Amino acid sequence: MQTERVAIDPLHPAPEIIARAAAVLRGGGLVAFPTETVYGLGANALDERAVQSIFAAKGRPPTNPLIVHVPDLAAAVTLVSDMPAPARALADRFWPGPLSLVLLKSARVPDVVTAGGPTVALRAPAHPVALALLQACGFPLAAPSANPSTHLSPTTADHVLSGLDGKIDMVLDAGPAAGGLESTVLDLTVSPPRLLRPGLATRAQIEAVIGPIGHGPDQNPSAPLRSPGMHERHYAPRAALDCQADSRPRVEQLMRQGVRVGWIVWSPTAPEALAGAIIERLPADAAGYAAGLYAALHRLDQANVSHIVVDLPPAGDAWLAVHDRLRRAAHS
Ligand code: AMP
Ligand code: MG
Repeated sequence: MQTERVAIDPLHPAPEIIARAAAVLRGGGLVAFPTETVYGLGANALDERAVQSIFAAKGRPPTNPLIVHVPDLAAAVTLVSDMPAPARALADRFWPGPLSLVLLKSARVPDVVTAGGPTVALRAPAHPVALALLQACGFPLAAPSANPSTHLSPTTADHVLSGLDGKIDMVLDAGPAAGGLESTVLDLTVSPPRLLRPGLATRAQIEAVIGPIGHGPDQNPSAPLRSPGMHERHYAPRAALDCQADSRPRVEQLMRQGVRVGWIVWSPTAPEALAGAIIERLPADAAGYAAGLYAALHRLDQANVSHIVVDLPPAGDAWLAVHDRLRRAAHS
């Protein structure tokens, strides 16, 4: 298969390009598109065979369910058997935006989307290209991140092609995805609602709308199916990775052993350069750090480092998603 790369304006997407991409999706094809979090790999969520081809292209285990993207709350209502008041309140506050809501699915949603489970994760993405595409399609799009399973999520079309060239029909290239980390996933089928994956919508922002929520590992033995995004190794670069509160001695130690090292630091504590280590500097604010993290990891992989040392970023609610992804990237 030849993968077509089509440039598209991120703010004013050309209707004829959107129409072409929608036609590919209507025919059962796969189109990667930008969202405000990372690039997604879209298929018609109501077309079982199209959804199966997402799993094939990514090498994704069929036990890992997909997030379904909708243009708005009205479209979401048709995919669930119940839209509880807290879910409506959250959709009002966050959509379009980086919050995925896990709800009881309706019969319209094929089992392949939800890994056979009774729940479906839904969100309306805030990117103009994603919204235009959803409106042109008129059907919901199942869209996991557009990368081979367990690899780094893509924040540019180049990242998408580096993992999936020849395996998908098209990628809409609108430049870098601004958010940089995946959506927050919140389970509303349990009481209190539970944070399954921290993301760009923070816990404090969610609790301001619906009150206290649960978080952390599910105590329930069916947890792996409930929240497969919590698989320990995920979002990982090729290189080994570890996080250090005092990173410089670790970098020096690895270099003495002759290891090719990448070093991710953040200002204002950014240490002085070390001859030989490949340094990536990220901003000191959580949003800026999140936006740049995957691109930095992709560059270090491309530079063929065999070990990445991350200078531990600050703690706190705003940094929860960053720490979550770093912990999974470090898991070997
Ligand atoms: P990604 O592959 O990056 O799109 O991540 C999608 C993640 O969303 C999965 O790994 C799950 O953690 C989560 N997810 C999707 N559907 C469900 C669901 N029905 N129940 C719980 N988590 C879900
Ligand atoms: Mg993913």
